[in-house]
Amino acid sequence: DTIGANLDRAVATWPDREALVDVPSGRRWTYAEFGAAVEELAQALAASGVGKGDRVGIWAVNCPEWVLVQYATARIGAIMVNINPAYRTHEVEYVLKQAGISLLFASLSHKTSDYRAMVQEVRGRCPELREVVYIGDPSWEALLRRGTGDAPYPELSCDDPINIQYTSGTTGFPKGATLSHHNILNNGYFVGELVSYTEQDRICVPVPFYHCFGMVMGNLAATSHGACVVIPAPSFEPAATLEAVQRERCTSLYGVPTMFIAELNLPDFASYDLSTLRTGIMAGSPCPVEVMKRVVAEMHMAEVSICYGMTETSPVSLQTRVDDDLEHRTATVGRVLPHLEVKVVDPATGVTRPRGTAGELCTRGYSVMLGYWNEPGKTAEAVDAGRWMHTGDLAVMREDGYVEIVGRIKDMIIRGGENIYPREIEEFLYAHPKIKDVQVVGVPHETYGEEVLACVIPRDPDAPPTLEEVRAFCEGRLAHYKVPARLRILEAFPMTVSGKVRKIELREGYADVP
Ligand code: ATP
Ligand code: MG
Repeated sequence: DTIGANLDRAVATWPDREALVDVPSGRRWTYAEFGAAVEELAQALAASGVGKGDRVGIWAVNCPEWVLVQYATARIGAIMVNINPAYRTHEVEYVLKQAGISLLFASLSHKTSDYRAMVQEVRGRCPELREVVYIGDPSWEALLRRGTGDAPYPELSCDDPINIQYTSGTTGFPKGATLSHHNILNNGYFVGELVSYTEQDRICVPVPFYHCFGMVMGNLAATSHGACVVIPAPSFEPAATLEAVQRERCTSLYGVPTMFIAELNLPDFASYDLSTLRTGIMAGSPCPVEVMKRVVAEMHMAEVSICYGMTETSPVSLQTRVDDDLEHRTATVGRVLPHLEVKVVDPATGVTRPRGTAGELCTRGYSVMLGYWNEPGKTAEAVDAGRWMHTGDLAVMREDGYVEIVGRIKDMIIRGGENIYPREIEEFLYAHPKIKDVQVVGVPHETYGEEVLACVIPRDPDAPPTLEEVRAFCEGRLAHYKVPARLRILEAFPMTVSGKVRKIELREGYADVP
């Protein structure tokens, strides 16, 4: 199906069920109302000359209009380009030019971000940008008034590109993954299927829509199963999230592990009634066991699911099942989704590795992107001739098919021929009483090629651990080549906007340290 056809089916099947609720503004739409609102916007876009294949940007925090733009652009075959609301002028200018965006939807402002001022600053440098429509502004109403109601829609195929999503930029500059209806709609359908969504489900989505987590695993999973999307706030706030779950009687809650930690740590956490929750999805980075235990016991999410994925694969390729035990839900990221294939290969030779041994994870099937937008060279590096997506992640497949993520290939340290996985050392060092947070990277060394650098945020900034203390802590408990040779004390780590540590900067920055 195309995304438009999928929405038509939802409207026909569940016209009176709720599709979308915006808690901050109190606005709500049934599927019939939502379908009509999408139609109105699609007609307005068509009347404004937006055609099949044209790039329409959306640079906005979470709001119902975001979702309307997602479905209206898909309806007319325009390619929606998600722009991270945390971007600033330099980054937005790059995306506007790189994707050749002709029409941009933007928030007016949010907290300290004045989107209108930033757009005005870069607009003159983006000749292809014809029009900017601000959400919650007369320009939105003006756009809608252009619709004639009878503009014909183009012929669409489910393999047409429909969406460009930029990767998080954890390991370098973000790349624009070009995705089709087929890619993301099927992924949303199967992710929802594996947490048994029905039209009774109400999904609380505090994660950003700009990322595939919100727009695919939230919005597309919902319309595929008749569920309702509940927006708790424009950007993540732990109290607003739990309040939305309680008030809207949500059955499912999404988040990256740090969001669940923030919710569990609210001083009045116990006062929220979360008894309607049944399931949810946690993804993006590994989840500590203690957090998972509390999510299951105290948030009632007995059927919570862990997902592994990447922007380039629409995103999910591995997922735990609702009846998996705690061990599988914390030590692994689940097993392969229906109709997809995964394998673990030797990164040097491409030969499949035996189960239980580490190698590069590769994914194949309907979810693999069409390619990186306008970057055929990078596409060829990532997707091989057999259509396998090389994820760049190191993984171990267990005998039972469940997969453990060991780390990223780019982060692997090779010291004198020994392969070192930073995550193993990081987990070990977390237990040190003077260490609050730690990241381990490789830095150049004349004889060994690389050596281990531990970057530490101390618990007490006035009493950081010394290199000798760190080494003594590891002595006899870690193989000698894994023991950090160097130590760097920091106040904070450089982060991506999606909350991941940019190890590349920790390495580069080290060159400047005397
Ligand atoms: P870039 O590709 O620009 O460097 P990125 O890879 O962080 O950035 P995303 O596509 O948002 O951009 O993230 C995908 C990556 O996130 C995966 O390749 C993997 O390293 C990590 N990841 C995703 N889910 C999980 C998970 N459940 N556990 C551990 N790591 C995960
Ligand atoms: Mg990546």
